[in-house]
Amino acid sequence: MTALPTAEQVWEALARIPDPEIPVVSVVEMGIVRDVQVEGPKATITMTPTFSGCPALHLIREQLEKTARSLGFADVEVKTVLSPPWSTDWITPEAKERLRQYGIAPPKPAHEGSGLIQIETNPTPCPRCGSLDTRLTNAFGPTLCKALYVCHSCKEPFESFKSV
Ligand SMILES: [Zn+2]
Repeated sequence: MTALPTAEQVWEALARIPDPEIPVVSVVEMGIVRDVQVEGPKATITMTPTFSGCPALHLIREQLEKTARSLGFADVEVKTVLSPPWSTDWITPEAKERLRQYGIAPPKPAHEGSGLIQIETNPTPCPRCGSLDTRLTNAFGPTLCKALYVCHSCKEPFESFKSV
């Protein structure tokens, strides 16, 4: 009988699962995976969904479970925890930089103690050219998590993560 992986190894494996919507960042970097517990042949993974309106949450669940099973766990439980609510502050700085390179304006630090989506009053810089001459065109972009902007400098539309 081979030894089962440690919680650390589970974290490492989960860190290779790309976010279904933004493949340049992993579900761990997004702050979706909150906790990993290993107890003999059982692995318990705790996740906090991002924006409740975001699709693909069931997909993330499935992938977490599949990945843990592929490591050799016979019993895998994926728990969903809604409190504290997911915050864009949980996205790692490296992941935010990759979002910008991918063309999505990363979220600004969320306002303390508020789980509500903030209507942004400060300009959001264009992820392509850095110009602050941008305009919100649609507060509800392709998904509820993102807003659509247009940059007046490079004339390109871009998406921005809402801060929560
Ligand atoms: Zn621009």
